[in-house]
Amino acid sequence: MEPLEIEKNIPFKSNLLTSCLYCGTSLPATKAEHIFNSCWGGTHKTSRLICDTCNEDYSCIDSIFAPYTQFIMNAWQFKGERHQEIPSISTEEGYTIEKGGRPVINPKVDVIPLDDGRMKIKANLRSKSQARKLILDEKDVIEEKIGRELTEAELEEIREEIRNSEFVTGAPGILKINAQLCFDDEYRSAAHTLIKCLACFDPETAKSDLTKTIRDFARYSHGDWLEFAIEASSIFSFEDIFNTYSHHINSAVIYYSEFLGKIIGSLTILGRIKRWVILAHNYTGPDRILYVQEKVRSGGVIDRVKVNLREKNIPLVQTEFKPPSINQLVNEFYLLAKITMEIEAPFSNFLSSFKSAITRHTVINEYFLKEIVELYVEFLKIITNIENVEEIEQQIWESGLSDILSKFHDMEINEIKIQEELLFFFSVLIEKFR
Ligand SMILES: [Zn+2]
Repeated sequence: MEPLEIEKNIPFKSNLLTSCLYCGTSLPATKAEHIFNSCWGGTHKTSRLICDTCNEDYSCIDSIFAPYTQFIMNAWQFKGERHQEIPSISTEEGYTIEKGGRPVINPKVDVIPLDDGRMKIKANLRSKSQARKLILDEKDVIEEKIGRELTEAELEEIREEIRNSEFVTGAPGILKINAQLCFDDEYRSAAHTLIKCLACFDPETAKSDLTKTIRDFARYSHGDWLEFAIEASSIFSFEDIFNTYSHHINSAVIYYSEFLGKIIGSLTILGRIKRWVILAHNYTGPDRILYVQEKVRSGGVIDRVKVNLREKNIPLVQTEFKPPSINQLVNEFYLLAKITMEIEAPFSNFLSSFKSAITRHTVINEYFLKEIVELYVEFLKIITNIENVEEIEQQIWESGLSDILSKFHDMEINEIKIQEELLFFFSVLIEKFR
Protein backbone atom coordinates (compact mmCIF):
# COMPACT_ATOMS: atom_id res chain seq x y z
CA MET A 1 0.00 0.00 0.00
CA GLU A 2 1.22 3.48 -0.86
CA PRO A 3 2.08 5.39 2.32
CA LEU A 4 0.67 8.58 0.88
CA GLU A 5 -2.78 9.37 -0.43
CA ILE A 6 -2.81 12.57 -2.44
CA GLU A 7 -5.95 14.59 -3.07
CA LYS A 8 -5.45 17.27 -5.71
CA ASN A 9 -7.54 20.44 -6.11
CA ILE A 10 -9.24 20.14 -2.75
CA PRO A 11 -12.15 22.61 -2.47
CA PHE A 12 -11.89 26.09 -0.98
CA LYS A 13 -13.78 26.15 2.30
CA SER A 14 -13.24 29.77 3.25
CA ASN A 15 -16.95 30.51 2.73
CA LEU A 16 -17.50 28.64 6.00
CA LEU A 17 -15.84 31.56 7.79
CA THR A 18 -18.47 34.07 8.81
CA SER A 19 -16.18 36.32 10.82
CA CYS A 20 -12.62 37.69 10.63
CA LEU A 21 -9.90 35.19 11.57
CA TYR A 22 -8.33 37.71 13.88
CA CYS A 23 -10.90 40.02 15.40
CA GLY A 24 -14.28 38.42 14.74
CA THR A 25 -15.79 41.22 12.61
CA SER A 26 -18.41 39.88 10.16
CA LEU A 27 -17.30 38.74 6.73
CA PRO A 28 -17.11 39.11 3.77
CA ALA A 29 -14.95 42.22 3.88
CA THR A 30 -15.36 44.97 1.32
CA LYS A 31 -11.69 44.79 0.35
CA ALA A 32 -10.14 41.59 -0.99
CA GLU A 33 -6.92 40.33 0.56
CA HIS A 34 -4.07 38.55 -1.24
CA ILE A 35 -3.28 35.06 0.01
CA PHE A 36 0.33 35.33 -1.08
CA ASN A 37 1.49 38.92 -0.77
CA SER A 38 1.27 41.00 -3.94
CA CYS A 39 4.85 42.20 -3.24
CA TRP A 40 5.97 38.61 -3.89
CA GLY A 41 3.97 38.40 -7.10
CA GLY A 42 0.83 36.88 -5.56
CA THR A 43 -2.44 37.67 -7.35
CA HIS A 44 -5.14 35.47 -5.81
CA LYS A 45 -7.44 37.58 -3.63
CA THR A 46 -10.34 36.83 -1.33
CA SER A 47 -12.58 38.85 0.97
CA ARG A 48 -13.49 35.71 2.92
CA LEU A 49 -10.70 35.56 5.51
CA ILE A 50 -10.07 38.83 7.28
CA CYS A 51 -11.85 42.12 7.78
CA ASP A 52 -10.87 45.49 6.27
CA THR A 53 -9.30 46.81 9.48
CA CYS A 54 -7.07 43.78 9.97
CA ASN A 55 -6.18 43.84 6.26
CA GLU A 56 -5.26 47.51 6.48
CA ASP A 57 -3.16 47.04 9.62
CA TYR A 58 -1.08 44.44 7.85
CA SER A 59 -0.12 46.70 4.99
CA CYS A 60 2.78 48.10 7.07
CA ILE A 61 4.53 44.72 7.17
CA ASP A 62 3.63 43.74 3.60
CA SER A 63 7.01 44.80 2.28
CA ILE A 64 9.05 43.27 5.10
CA PHE A 65 10.62 40.70 2.77
CA ALA A 66 11.47 43.32 0.13
CA PRO A 67 15.21 43.32 1.02
CA TYR A 68 15.24 39.64 -0.04
CA THR A 69 12.75 39.60 -2.91
CA GLN A 70 14.43 42.59 -4.60
CA PHE A 71 17.47 40.42 -5.41
CA ILE A 72 15.45 37.57 -6.89
CA MET A 73 13.22 39.87 -8.93
CA ASN A 74 16.18 41.93 -10.09
CA ALA A 75 18.24 38.88 -11.13
CA TRP A 76 15.39 37.08 -12.91
CA GLN A 77 13.83 40.31 -14.19
CA PHE A 78 10.25 40.17 -13.02
CA LYS A 79 8.11 42.22 -10.66
CA GLY A 80 5.19 41.97 -8.29
CA GLU A 81 1.66 43.10 -9.07
CA ARG A 82 2.00 46.51 -7.42
CA HIS A 83 5.57 47.25 -8.43
CA GLN A 84 5.95 49.98 -11.02
CA GLU A 85 9.25 48.53 -12.21
CA ILE A 86 11.51 45.54 -11.71
CA PRO A 87 13.24 46.38 -8.41
CA SER A 88 16.64 48.07 -8.61
CA ILE A 89 19.02 47.95 -5.65
CA SER A 90 21.08 50.72 -4.09
CA THR A 91 24.55 49.94 -2.83
CA GLU A 92 26.74 51.76 -0.33
CA GLU A 93 29.32 52.70 -2.96
CA GLY A 94 26.94 54.97 -4.86
CA TYR A 95 25.85 52.40 -7.42
CA THR A 96 22.39 51.33 -8.44
CA ILE A 97 22.01 47.75 -9.57
CA GLU A 98 19.54 47.90 -12.40
CA LYS A 99 17.50 44.89 -13.56
CA GLY A 100 19.51 41.87 -14.57
CA GLY A 101 22.20 42.68 -11.97
CA ARG A 102 23.67 45.58 -13.99
CA PRO A 103 25.45 48.06 -11.73
CA VAL A 104 25.52 51.68 -12.84
CA ILE A 105 27.07 54.55 -10.98
CA ASN A 106 24.74 57.15 -9.47
CA PRO A 107 25.36 60.58 -11.00
CA LYS A 108 26.82 63.03 -8.51
CA VAL A 109 28.80 66.24 -8.73
CA ASP A 110 30.84 67.72 -5.88
CA VAL A 111 32.31 71.20 -6.02
CA ILE A 112 35.12 72.00 -3.61
CA PRO A 113 36.04 75.73 -3.40
CA LEU A 114 39.80 76.25 -3.10
CA ASP A 115 41.48 79.03 -1.03
CA ASP A 116 42.69 80.95 -4.06
CA GLY A 117 39.10 81.38 -5.32
CA ARG A 118 39.31 78.62 -7.88
CA MET A 119 37.40 75.37 -7.50
CA LYS A 120 37.86 71.68 -7.83
CA ILE A 121 35.14 69.54 -9.38
CA LYS A 122 34.70 65.90 -8.55
CA ALA A 123 32.14 64.01 -10.59
CA ASN A 124 30.70 60.53 -10.49
CA LEU A 125 29.14 60.07 -13.88
CA ARG A 126 28.33 57.50 -16.52
CA SER A 127 28.92 59.43 -19.70
CA LYS A 128 30.17 62.72 -21.10
CA SER A 129 26.72 63.82 -22.14
CA GLN A 130 25.42 63.17 -18.65
CA ALA A 131 28.36 65.08 -17.19
CA ARG A 132 27.81 68.06 -19.45
CA LYS A 133 24.14 68.18 -18.65
CA LEU A 134 24.50 67.69 -14.90
CA ILE A 135 27.29 70.22 -14.46
CA LEU A 136 25.56 72.88 -16.50
CA ASP A 137 22.27 72.11 -14.72
CA GLU A 138 24.09 72.68 -11.48
CA LYS A 139 25.71 75.93 -12.52
CA ASP A 140 23.62 77.83 -9.94
CA VAL A 141 24.54 75.43 -7.16
CA ILE A 142 28.22 75.71 -8.02
CA GLU A 143 28.01 79.51 -8.10
CA GLU A 144 26.33 79.57 -4.71
CA LYS A 145 29.02 77.34 -3.28
CA ILE A 146 31.90 79.49 -4.50
CA GLY A 147 30.00 82.70 -3.74
CA ARG A 148 30.23 84.27 -7.19
CA GLU A 149 29.33 83.74 -10.83
CA LEU A 150 31.39 81.40 -12.97
CA THR A 151 33.39 83.18 -15.62
CA GLU A 152 33.12 82.12 -19.26
CA ALA A 153 36.72 80.91 -19.04
CA GLU A 154 35.87 78.69 -16.08
CA LEU A 155 32.86 77.23 -17.84
CA GLU A 156 35.05 76.48 -20.82
CA GLU A 157 37.58 74.88 -18.47
CA ILE A 158 34.85 72.61 -17.08
CA ARG A 159 33.74 71.64 -20.57
CA GLU A 160 37.33 70.92 -21.53
CA GLU A 161 37.74 68.78 -18.42
CA ILE A 162 34.68 66.73 -19.39
CA ARG A 163 35.94 66.30 -22.96
CA ASN A 164 39.19 64.86 -21.63
CA SER A 165 37.67 62.62 -18.98
CA GLU A 166 37.62 58.87 -19.10
CA PHE A 167 34.36 57.29 -18.04
CA VAL A 168 34.42 53.96 -16.38
CA THR A 169 31.50 51.63 -16.96
CA GLY A 170 30.90 48.10 -15.82
CA ALA A 171 30.93 46.17 -12.59
CA PRO A 172 32.19 47.91 -9.48
CA GLY A 173 33.40 44.72 -7.85
CA ILE A 174 32.00 43.48 -4.58
CA LEU A 175 28.90 45.41 -3.70
CA LYS A 176 28.16 46.52 -0.20
CA ILE A 177 24.48 46.16 0.48
CA ASN A 178 22.89 47.99 3.34
CA ALA A 179 19.65 46.39 4.45
CA GLN A 180 17.39 46.61 7.45
CA LEU A 181 15.96 43.26 8.43
CA CYS A 182 13.27 42.80 11.06
CA PHE A 183 12.86 39.16 12.00
CA ASP A 184 9.88 39.74 14.28
CA ASP A 185 7.86 41.22 11.42
CA GLU A 186 9.19 38.64 8.97
CA TYR A 187 7.83 35.85 11.13
CA ARG A 188 4.55 37.70 11.66
CA SER A 189 4.18 38.08 7.91
CA ALA A 190 5.06 34.40 7.38
CA ALA A 191 2.60 33.29 10.08
CA HIS A 192 -0.10 35.52 8.58
CA THR A 193 0.28 33.88 5.15
CA LEU A 194 0.35 30.38 6.60
CA ILE A 195 -2.82 31.11 8.63
CA LYS A 196 -4.55 32.41 5.48
CA CYS A 197 -3.62 29.25 3.55
CA LEU A 198 -4.87 27.14 6.43
CA ALA A 199 -8.10 29.15 6.57
CA CYS A 200 -8.80 28.60 2.85
CA PHE A 201 -8.86 24.82 3.14
CA ASP A 202 -9.27 24.07 6.84
CA PRO A 203 -11.14 27.02 8.37
CA GLU A 204 -12.13 25.01 11.45
CA THR A 205 -8.49 24.68 12.54
CA ALA A 206 -7.66 28.22 11.47
CA LYS A 207 -10.36 29.57 13.79
CA SER A 208 -9.91 27.09 16.64
CA ASP A 209 -8.34 27.71 20.05
CA LEU A 210 -5.45 25.54 18.88
CA THR A 211 -4.18 28.34 16.63
CA LYS A 212 -5.15 31.32 18.80
CA THR A 213 -1.60 32.01 20.04
CA ILE A 214 -0.14 32.18 16.54
CA ARG A 215 -3.04 34.34 15.34
CA ASP A 216 -2.42 36.78 18.20
CA PHE A 217 1.26 36.88 17.34
CA ALA A 218 0.59 37.42 13.64
CA ARG A 219 -2.08 40.07 14.12
CA TYR A 220 -1.25 41.81 17.40
CA SER A 221 2.44 40.98 17.82
CA HIS A 222 1.72 39.19 21.10
CA GLY A 223 4.75 37.15 22.14
CA ASP A 224 8.19 36.96 20.61
CA TRP A 225 9.11 35.55 17.20
CA LEU A 226 11.60 33.23 18.94
CA GLU A 227 8.65 31.32 20.42
CA PHE A 228 7.28 30.50 16.98
CA ALA A 229 10.31 30.36 14.67
CA ILE A 230 12.06 27.04 14.21
CA GLU A 231 14.73 25.57 12.05
CA ALA A 232 13.42 22.49 10.32
CA SER A 233 13.37 20.35 7.21
CA SER A 234 11.06 17.80 5.66
CA ILE A 235 11.54 14.65 3.63
CA PHE A 236 8.49 15.45 1.52
CA SER A 237 8.81 17.47 -1.63
CA PHE A 238 5.80 18.85 -3.44
CA GLU A 239 7.51 20.42 -6.42
CA ASP A 240 7.32 17.02 -8.15
CA ILE A 241 3.54 16.94 -7.95
CA PHE A 242 3.24 20.11 -9.99
CA ASN A 243 6.57 19.79 -11.74
CA THR A 244 7.59 23.27 -10.68
CA TYR A 245 11.15 24.09 -9.73
CA SER A 246 11.28 27.79 -9.95
CA HIS A 247 12.04 31.13 -8.36
CA HIS A 248 8.65 32.23 -9.58
CA ILE A 249 6.57 30.39 -7.00
CA ASN A 250 5.28 31.11 -3.51
CA SER A 251 4.21 28.14 -1.46
CA ALA A 252 2.97 27.13 1.96
CA VAL A 253 3.08 23.70 3.54
CA ILE A 254 1.12 22.87 6.68
CA TYR A 255 2.20 19.72 8.49
CA TYR A 256 -0.29 18.26 10.97
CA SER A 257 1.78 15.85 13.01
CA GLU A 258 0.28 13.57 15.57
CA PHE A 259 3.76 12.19 16.23
CA LEU A 260 5.10 15.65 17.20
CA GLY A 261 1.76 16.79 18.62
CA LYS A 262 2.05 20.01 16.61
CA ILE A 263 0.95 21.81 13.49
CA ILE A 264 3.96 23.29 11.74
CA GLY A 265 3.96 25.58 8.73
CA SER A 266 6.66 26.27 6.19
CA LEU A 267 6.43 29.28 3.90
CA THR A 268 8.64 29.63 0.82
CA ILE A 269 8.75 32.99 -0.91
CA LEU A 270 9.83 33.05 -4.55
CA GLY A 271 11.18 29.53 -4.28
CA ARG A 272 13.99 30.72 -2.01
CA ILE A 273 13.18 32.47 1.23
CA LYS A 274 12.03 29.91 3.74
CA ARG A 275 10.43 30.43 7.17
CA TRP A 276 9.32 27.61 9.47
CA VAL A 277 6.67 28.48 12.06
CA ILE A 278 4.97 26.52 14.85
CA LEU A 279 1.26 27.08 14.29
CA ALA A 280 -0.15 24.95 17.11
CA HIS A 281 0.83 22.78 20.04
CA ASN A 282 -1.31 19.94 21.44
CA TYR A 283 -2.42 18.65 18.05
CA THR A 284 -4.06 15.23 18.33
CA GLY A 285 -5.67 14.54 14.93
CA PRO A 286 -4.38 12.36 12.09
CA ASP A 287 -1.10 12.97 10.26
CA ARG A 288 -1.65 14.98 7.13
CA ILE A 289 -0.09 17.67 4.99
CA LEU A 290 -1.64 20.59 3.18
CA TYR A 291 0.34 22.09 0.31
CA VAL A 292 -0.67 25.37 -1.34
CA GLN A 293 1.21 27.19 -4.09
CA GLU A 294 0.74 30.11 -6.42
CA LYS A 295 2.92 30.88 -9.39
CA VAL A 296 3.98 34.51 -9.66
CA ARG A 297 1.40 36.59 -11.51
CA SER A 298 -0.40 33.48 -12.67
CA GLY A 299 -3.78 35.18 -12.83
CA GLY A 300 -4.78 33.92 -9.42
CA VAL A 301 -4.53 30.15 -9.89
CA ILE A 302 -3.91 28.44 -6.56
CA ASP A 303 -2.62 24.86 -6.78
CA ARG A 304 -3.27 22.78 -3.70
CA VAL A 305 -3.10 19.23 -2.47
CA LYS A 306 -3.98 17.43 0.69
CA VAL A 307 -1.80 14.50 1.60
CA ASN A 308 -3.08 11.84 3.96
CA LEU A 309 -0.58 9.49 5.52
CA ARG A 310 -1.57 5.89 5.79
CA GLU A 311 1.29 4.98 8.10
CA LYS A 312 1.49 6.29 11.63
CA ASN A 313 4.42 7.63 13.58
CA ILE A 314 6.27 9.23 10.71
CA PRO A 315 7.84 12.51 11.84
CA LEU A 316 6.66 14.73 9.00
CA VAL A 317 9.14 17.41 9.99
CA GLN A 318 12.67 17.09 11.31
CA THR A 319 13.30 19.71 13.94
CA GLU A 320 14.77 20.31 17.35
CA PHE A 321 12.27 23.12 17.93
CA LYS A 322 15.01 25.72 18.13
CA PRO A 323 14.79 29.05 16.33
CA PRO A 324 17.49 29.92 13.81
CA SER A 325 20.14 32.25 15.23
CA ILE A 326 20.31 35.87 14.12
CA ASN A 327 23.70 35.14 12.61
CA GLN A 328 22.30 32.32 10.58
CA LEU A 329 19.46 34.48 9.24
CA VAL A 330 21.82 37.32 8.39
CA ASN A 331 24.17 34.91 6.63
CA GLU A 332 21.28 33.51 4.63
CA PHE A 333 20.43 37.04 3.56
CA TYR A 334 23.97 37.78 2.38
CA LEU A 335 24.25 34.45 0.63
CA LEU A 336 21.02 35.16 -1.24
CA ALA A 337 22.32 38.62 -2.19
CA LYS A 338 25.65 37.21 -3.33
CA ILE A 339 24.34 34.28 -5.35
CA THR A 340 21.54 36.18 -7.04
CA MET A 341 23.75 39.12 -7.97
CA GLU A 342 26.97 37.29 -8.83
CA ILE A 343 25.64 34.16 -10.53
CA GLU A 344 21.91 34.20 -11.17
CA ALA A 345 21.73 37.65 -12.72
CA PRO A 346 24.48 36.86 -15.28
CA PHE A 347 22.82 33.48 -15.89
CA SER A 348 19.46 35.13 -16.53
CA ASN A 349 21.22 37.39 -19.04
CA PHE A 350 22.66 34.28 -20.68
CA LEU A 351 19.10 32.94 -20.86
CA SER A 352 17.95 36.07 -22.69
CA SER A 353 20.74 35.65 -25.26
CA PHE A 354 19.89 31.95 -25.49
CA LYS A 355 16.27 32.83 -26.29
CA SER A 356 17.26 35.33 -28.91
CA ALA A 357 19.67 32.78 -30.48
CA ILE A 358 16.74 30.36 -30.77
CA THR A 359 14.91 32.80 -33.00
CA ARG A 360 17.85 32.87 -35.44
CA HIS A 361 17.96 29.09 -35.94
CA THR A 362 15.40 26.48 -36.88
CA VAL A 363 16.96 23.12 -36.00
CA ILE A 364 19.46 21.79 -33.47
CA ASN A 365 22.85 21.50 -35.12
CA GLU A 366 26.50 22.20 -34.52
CA TYR A 367 26.25 25.85 -35.60
CA PHE A 368 23.47 26.60 -33.16
CA LEU A 369 25.19 24.88 -30.26
CA LYS A 370 28.53 26.53 -31.07
CA GLU A 371 26.82 29.91 -30.77
CA ILE A 372 25.29 28.89 -27.44
CA VAL A 373 28.66 27.68 -26.14
CA GLU A 374 30.20 31.06 -27.00
CA LEU A 375 27.44 32.83 -25.08
CA TYR A 376 27.92 30.46 -22.18
CA VAL A 377 31.65 31.11 -22.08
CA GLU A 378 30.90 34.84 -21.93
CA PHE A 379 28.72 34.11 -18.91
CA LEU A 380 31.45 31.96 -17.31
CA LYS A 381 33.93 34.79 -17.77
CA ILE A 382 31.74 36.96 -15.56
CA ILE A 383 31.36 34.50 -12.72
CA THR A 384 34.83 32.88 -12.75
CA ASN A 385 38.30 33.85 -13.84
CA ILE A 386 38.71 31.36 -16.65
CA GLU A 387 41.45 32.05 -19.13
CA ASN A 388 41.82 29.34 -21.73
CA VAL A 389 38.58 29.72 -23.67
CA GLU A 390 39.31 26.88 -26.14
CA GLU A 391 39.95 24.44 -23.36
CA ILE A 392 36.73 25.47 -21.60
CA GLU A 393 34.72 25.06 -24.81
CA GLN A 394 36.24 21.59 -25.23
CA GLN A 395 35.21 20.70 -21.67
CA ILE A 396 31.64 21.88 -22.27
CA TRP A 397 31.32 19.59 -25.30
CA GLU A 398 32.81 16.69 -23.41
CA SER A 399 30.56 17.25 -20.40
CA GLY A 400 27.53 16.04 -22.34
CA LEU A 401 26.83 18.63 -25.03
CA SER A 402 28.10 16.27 -27.76
CA ASP A 403 25.57 13.70 -26.55
CA ILE A 404 22.79 16.29 -26.63
CA LEU A 405 23.81 17.18 -30.19
CA SER A 406 23.59 13.58 -31.39
CA LYS A 407 20.35 12.99 -29.50
CA PHE A 408 18.53 16.00 -30.94
CA HIS A 409 20.37 16.49 -34.24
CA ASP A 410 18.18 18.16 -36.89
CA MET A 411 15.19 18.31 -34.57
CA GLU A 412 13.08 21.47 -34.32
CA ILE A 413 14.49 24.11 -31.99
CA ASN A 414 11.00 25.21 -31.02
CA GLU A 415 10.46 21.95 -29.15
CA ILE A 416 10.11 23.09 -25.53
CA LYS A 417 11.43 19.79 -24.16
CA ILE A 418 14.70 20.21 -26.07
CA GLN A 419 15.11 23.77 -24.85
CA GLU A 420 14.46 22.67 -21.29
CA GLU A 421 17.01 19.88 -21.50
CA LEU A 422 19.58 22.28 -22.87
CA LEU A 423 18.95 24.84 -20.16
CA PHE A 424 19.08 22.17 -17.50
CA PHE A 425 22.42 21.02 -18.91
CA PHE A 426 23.84 24.55 -18.80
CA SER A 427 22.50 25.35 -15.34
CA VAL A 428 23.97 22.17 -13.82
CA LEU A 429 27.26 22.83 -15.59
CA ILE A 430 27.79 26.04 -13.59
CA GLU A 431 28.97 24.00 -10.59
CA LYS A 432 31.73 22.41 -12.65
CA PHE A 433 33.36 25.75 -13.42
CA ARG A 434 32.72 27.69 -10.23
ZN1 LIG B 1 -10.38 41.65 11.72
